[in-house]
Amino acid sequence: MAAADIGIIVSLCKRRGFIFPASEIYGGLGSTWDYGPLGVELKNNVKRAWWKAVVYDRDDIEGMDGAILMNRLVWKYSGHEATFSDPLVDCRECKGRFRADKTYELDCPRYKRKVAACSANLTEPRAFNLMFKTQVGPVEEDAALAYLRPETAQSMFVNFKNIVDSRWRKIPFGIAQIGKAFRNEIVPGNFTFRTREFEQMEIEFFCKPGTDADWHAHWIAERHNWYLRYGIRAENLRRYVQRPDELAHYARACTDLQYRFFPEREDEEKQWDELEGIANRTDYDLSVHSKGKHDKWHVHNEHSTQSLVYRDPVTNEKFIPYVIEPSAGADRATLAFLMDAYSEKPGPDGEPRVVLKLHPALAPIKVAVLPLARNKSELVEKAKAIKADLQRYGIRAVYDDTAAIGKLYARQDEIGTPFCVTVDYDTLGIGKPKDGVQEENAPASPAGLLDTVTVRDRDTWEQVRVPIAGLRDFLADRLGTV
Ligand code: ATP
Repeated sequence: MAAADIGIIVSLCKRRGFIFPASEIYGGLGSTWDYGPLGVELKNNVKRAWWKAVVYDRDDIEGMDGAILMNRLVWKYSGHEATFSDPLVDCRECKGRFRADKTYELDCPRYKRKVAACSANLTEPRAFNLMFKTQVGPVEEDAALAYLRPETAQSMFVNFKNIVDSRWRKIPFGIAQIGKAFRNEIVPGNFTFRTREFEQMEIEFFCKPGTDADWHAHWIAERHNWYLRYGIRAENLRRYVQRPDELAHYARACTDLQYRFFPEREDEEKQWDELEGIANRTDYDLSVHSKGKHDKWHVHNEHSTQSLVYRDPVTNEKFIPYVIEPSAGADRATLAFLMDAYSEKPGPDGEPRVVLKLHPALAPIKVAVLPLARNKSELVEKAKAIKADLQRYGIRAVYDDTAAIGKLYARQDEIGTPFCVTVDYDTLGIGKPKDGVQEENAPASPAGLLDTVTVRDRDTWEQVRVPIAGLRDFLADRLGTV
């Protein structure tokens, strides 16, 4: 089944507090977005699920969190200062600026056609460096020039030796990092798919030359399965093997995991775009940051103080490790999970209801605890106590009494909450009041219902009665751990 298109997700996100246009009350700032109350939870859960899979569930990866501002020399030797650019074309007629390799996708701002159709008016492509410049310190001079990092990878390369030494690591092992990256994209757009400020989740996995192809295959499979495990449908995720002419000059191979971000496009081939790239970067990165001359890469690093040559402690063999780099975007992943989770089904009134079938580990809220009536203090107190107990146990729960129960269920379905727990009169062991009045000698509720609650499943809408004493375990079993 195709996922919802991005337009539907943009509107849901605004309506329900996932993602808002940034600086909105001042007219916004092109393609910048703020994650709201539910968005921050969802994105944190995506990042946590990634960290769990790549750091906690394995024994061969260390985590780190590097600085956004780095010594300018990092970007000189990495090659970013010279080559981190996209081809830019100007339109002589409308004065628009476009990425030369995307003109077949972009709409011409003046005529009803794609920019590619304006080729007669377009200038020759020229390189536009995507790094944001800033200055460190109060004096505006060249020496203080710095960049906002355009990827998180470089701090893992320049800390390679620190991590090997401080953590007694032997090859093969990897470093993982989640953090902000900045690119002055020529044409950002499509919601959070392409923005100028975004978050990456990257691994640099160091291995011995000769074992690199196997590790590359390993990481492609691992990362592909991770998306499937957290709810992306197989038919909306595919592998794209880059052609030799598409590879970076240092890369031996690169496979992109592509998601069907544009299901509305007629041409099936244009429905897909990159979610994550998994590259075999050879020994390029550690070579260029290692002090001395590296003929293979035509680099003489006169500034680095460190040799990054690795000596195998068993064989004494010396080599510069190869790097496999699975590089994912936290925002693109969050968007893909939202798109794939979106579904509609007829509600009790026959009107379509949105149900966001997020994996429980990703859902912003796991459980909503609802009193059947907000004007009955015993129901309210009981519901609040249950909510507090679940939260104490580490289950993200909310209490809500702002509408009638049917509406509350619909609201929780729309934001992807896997379970609703309802506290009703049977929970208290008393009969339901008639016309809002509790009768003196009302019959007690059916036997066995005292201190039980209703648990409603988001996806099936089935309701079961569960004793409060066993509620935490009942929910924890079904929610799993992140
Ligand atoms: P694209 O071809 O879409 O520009 P890229 O190949 O330049 O992407 P990488 O440098 O491989 O991207 O970055 C790794 C990941 O970071 C991408 O797969 C994507 O998920 C994310 N990413 C890159 N650029 C952006 C952006 N401008 N906005 C949001 N996420 C991004």
